[in-house]
This record gives sequence, C-alpha cells and structure tokens, in this order.
Amino acid sequence: MKVYKFGGASVKSAEGVRNLKYIIEDQSELFIIISAMGKTTNALENVLDLFYKGDKQGAADAITQIEGYHATIMDDLFGAGVVPAPVAELFAALRQTVAEGVPASREWECWYDALVSYGELISTRIISEYLNSQGVTNRWIDMRRTFVTDGNFKYANVDLIATKRLLDKAVNEATESIYIGQGFIGATHTGETTTLGREGSDYSAAVVASVMGAESLAIWKDVIGVLNADPKIFDDAQYIPELTYLDAIELAYSGAQIIHPKTIKPLQNSDIPLYVRPFGDKFAPGTVIKNVIDRPVEIPIRILKRKQVVMSIQPNDFSFVLEERLAKIFTILEDYNIKVNLIETSAIKMSLCVDNSRHLPRVIEEFNRYGFTVAHNEGMELLTIRGYTEELLDRYIRKGEVMVQRSQTLLRIVRPEGSEL
Ligand code: ASP
Ligand code: MG
Repeated sequence: MKVYKFGGASVKSAEGVRNLKYIIEDQSELFIIISAMGKTTNALENVLDLFYKGDKQGAADAITQIEGYHATIMDDLFGAGVVPAPVAELFAALRQTVAEGVPASREWECWYDALVSYGELISTRIISEYLNSQGVTNRWIDMRRTFVTDGNFKYANVDLIATKRLLDKAVNEATESIYIGQGFIGATHTGETTTLGREGSDYSAAVVASVMGAESLAIWKDVIGVLNADPKIFDDAQYIPELTYLDAIELAYSGAQIIHPKTIKPLQNSDIPLYVRPFGDKFAPGTVIKNVIDRPVEIPIRILKRKQVVMSIQPNDFSFVLEERLAKIFTILEDYNIKVNLIETSAIKMSLCVDNSRHLPRVIEEFNRYGFTVAHNEGMELLTIRGYTEELLDRYIRKGEVMVQRSQTLLRIVRPEGSEL
C-alpha cells in the first residue's frame, strides 16, 4: 500500500481535481488523504464564529457561499447544476446542524470540530464521486468511523491501536483498491467528531501510512520538493533531493514550513520514506525524506523564523540561577505554551529566544512574582543555518547580534527583524 496526500491548494479547483485523477489513475493499493478544498477550512471557521455568536442567518449565508464555491467546481466536473447525492446530503446536514444547534449546549471546541470537519467530508466526497464517474473506482472512507481519537476537541490525539484495527477492517471489506479518506478529522470512541489541529492532514496521512505499514507516503504540493530556504524570503533557494528524518525534524523545529515534526515521527518510527512531490509534475522525483540517504545535503540550509522575542531573566537577589529556579522558569513557560527556540545562560542571567505569544505579559508577571527581573525585546527574528560556510559566517555575524549560537553544523543568530538576508 502507498499513501498519497493532497492539500487544499492542490484541489482548490476543477483543474486541480482533474490533475489529482491524472496523478493517481494508474495506481492501485493506494490510500489517498485529502484536505478541504482551497480556503474552505477558514470559511468554516467563519461559519462557526457566526453560529456561536447566535447569528444563524449570517452562518447560513456563509454556508451558501461555501456551497457556491464547491458548486462551481462540481459544475465543471459533473456538468452544470449536477450535485452528487452524497455531497448534497453533507451540505444539508451542515445546514441542519447550524439551524438546530444550540451553541451553549456544547463547548466551543466541540462545535468547532462538528462544523469545521465538513470541509474534508465535502472535498473527499466530490473527488471520490468524480473519480468513480471517470472509471477510477474507489472507496470513500469516513475517517470519523476509522480514525479513533481522544476527546481533546480541536487538538485530538489518535488512538493508534484502535485506528489500525478499524482501518484494516475498512480496507479489507472494500473490493476497490483505491481508498479515499479525509485528513484532519476523526472521532472519539463514542462517535463525536474531532479534528487534529490546523494543518493536520499531513499528520493524518502519516498515521495512515504508519498503521497500515505503507511502503511510502507522498505529499503532493505546490513546490518542486524541499528547498534549502523559503523561496518567498531568499531569492537563491535551491532544491534538495534527499533529507534524513533528523534533518527534516530539525528544519521544521527551526521554523521551516515544510513538514510538521509531528508528521515525521510516525514515519520515522516505522521507517517509511516520505516524498514531497510537485503536483504539477507527476514524474518529477521531488524530495525524499528517510532514515539513511545516499546524497547528503551539501548546500547550507537557511531558515528564518520571525516574530521572536528575547527575554533576559535575572533573579532579584543576584543569586546564581540555581537548579530549582531553572525548573521554575521552565514550568512557567510550559504553563503558557511558550515555545523556546534558543537558550543562553550565565551565572546570573538566562536569555531566551521565544515565539511571540499573547500570553507573554502574563508570563512576565509570573516571573516577577517569583523574584525574577525580566527585560524583553520584541521584533526579533531567528536565522538558523545548517551546514554554514565561512562565507555565510562572514555575511551574517556582525556586531549587534542579540544572540549567537554555533556548533559544528548549526549556526543560529537572533537579530532584529528585517535584518539583511
Ligand atoms: N483543512 C485543514 C486546514 O486547513 C487541515 C489541512 O489542510 O491540513 O487546516
Ligand atoms: Mg493544507
């Protein structure tokens, strides 16, 4: 079995759906995970906001717009005005939930999952129906019946053992050899719909690949593969043919928007190669991410992470930053979900580079309460260079950098946002 994943951008139009068909039509024993079309998830978040505020009419109108967008795609795929019955049923169910639902009867997160999950249900139904109509026989799989999660709504965690059992069963029962399922969604043991966190479809695909013991996972994207820098930021970005899982995790951790570390983990555990492939070119190799690679990355990789804050934390009594005080510092950071990207310590001071967060004022208050003085500096960025060269060292290390850390392979610089690239 292979697993393919298509994101919202690759199925945002009828042309995208036709291209998906072209990519998959010569495959069998294939599990396809698909996201909501285009920006549908954002649009559904808007429906939720209106619904939760009690503006039912506004929510219904917003659904009409979402329906209109999908109708344009269906007109093109099936002929003017044709809406396959399963798709019509989904829109009707969404409308009914919004019309009859009582916002206060459930937690906001629970409503979030109940409504926002329709994006993936609708996209997969449209695509499954289209492929069937074109002779590419496939089985639509309802991931709410196969992807078992806990009840942590909006950020649900997958129960791998229960999921494996149900997925195996669904696949074994199907006479087709192409399966189409939704990314991003699942359900609790008691059948309440859940979602896995925004951008969660890659993770869904990784879990499917891992529990099914797939030979590989391919994520089809609007890129030629993984590059050594974000082409929107650096104009000399270059393509990388192969990466190790560890490279990929480190890059993701430094802020590269390729693949979430959470996605890599299940694949690494089961040693399943991950391909990042261009959906515009079915035969291009893309980038492969795996345990052992033949062609180590020989070009420096640069990652820029913006919206950083540097905090300098000093105990008021000028005591050393003793161990139990260090533990306190990290407990507070963890309590507020502050992501720490770089740490520097001295006898009397600890400096941290963290992602900016709306909780920072509270965090600083807490630090003060425990006897620390905090100086903080917003508007910073973190530049990470893996495999840096002398030339890049010269280029980027100048006076005035706020923090610098350097190991044999990794150079990390915290500097004012907008510094020279
Ligand atoms: N549709 C969801 C989102 O936009 C999940 C995904 O695309 O990965 O966040
Ligand atoms: Mg997406």
